[in-house]
Amino acid sequence: MPLLNLKNQALALISQTVSGQELAQLRIAFLGRKGQLNQVFKKLDKVNYGRQFNETKQAIESALTERQTQLTGTTAEWFDLTAPGQLPPLGHLHPISQAIAEIQRIFEHLGFTRVRYPEVDWDHYVFEALNMPADHPARDEWETIFIDAPAHPKLGQMVLTTHTSNGQVREMERVKKPPIRMLNLGKCYRRQQDPTHTIMFHQFEGLVVDKGISIPHLKGTLDYFGRQWFGPKIKSRIRPFHFQFTEPSFEVDMACVFCDQKGCRVCKNAGWLEMGGAGMVNQFVFESAGYVRNEWQGFAFGFGIDRLAMLKYHINDIRLLTGGDMRFLKQF
Ligand SMILES: [Zn+2]
Repeated sequence: MPLLNLKNQALALISQTVSGQELAQLRIAFLGRKGQLNQVFKKLDKVNYGRQFNETKQAIESALTERQTQLTGTTAEWFDLTAPGQLPPLGHLHPISQAIAEIQRIFEHLGFTRVRYPEVDWDHYVFEALNMPADHPARDEWETIFIDAPAHPKLGQMVLTTHTSNGQVREMERVKKPPIRMLNLGKCYRRQQDPTHTIMFHQFEGLVVDKGISIPHLKGTLDYFGRQWFGPKIKSRIRPFHFQFTEPSFEVDMACVFCDQKGCRVCKNAGWLEMGGAGMVNQFVFESAGYVRNEWQGFAFGFGIDRLAMLKYHINDIRLLTGGDMRFLKQF
């Protein structure tokens, strides 16, 4: 029974293969011109064993094909070892990363330089130096997360930064002698969670310090950014507001991108969307950084990046940005 033995041996080996390469080797070993099947058949009586030879050959052929299908999911009979490999899909940048790169590009055109300051910082830089002493009611707006670590004798407790404004005094201390055109861009943290707020979010802070800086410089900068971000026709406006570290202070609105200012659900029929805060740097902040009072003027502004991205890409739930759902992320 040499042909039956050969067939059983071949089928057993084929069933144990784990790659197309192994299958190709078995095909040559058994069915090749100098393969085992021909070797065995050579020694047999061609007339009596002719039919069994064909059956054995067919059985091995179909076992090879079937195994190939199991391994690759295709019916290809030949595995081309010289074909170039296929790269796995690599994806693309997250919409927030894309927004950050775009914001940086826009402000670099105006001469701003991106810096990075700590996201875990001393109370001093986050609040005190910005004219918000401990127990000041202005702090209530910032739902602060404190770090359970020993306080610094001068700089106070450590906190997760509630805004990128901690970069203001740090940058002034670093530069010492203006001009300053800073873009501090990073993550911020507050105790909050709903469809438009997450505990961790992204913000950027612009700071300009020089001689003779006034509100029109601020307004021009905001207008430029709005047009670059939302399109050439977008209008912006500033409304009086109050922040401890700017005087005067403003809230910044941009024309609603959804309704062309006709009024819609997103802008609550106002025609304007609130974008962020801004103002002229309070002289108290210059003093915190060791500058002489009234020697310099400056303006500062802070915007939420997640909100800017949501409005630009028409995303209605901020949690989609951190959900990790590929069906959502692939759209950008
Ligand atoms: Zn609208």
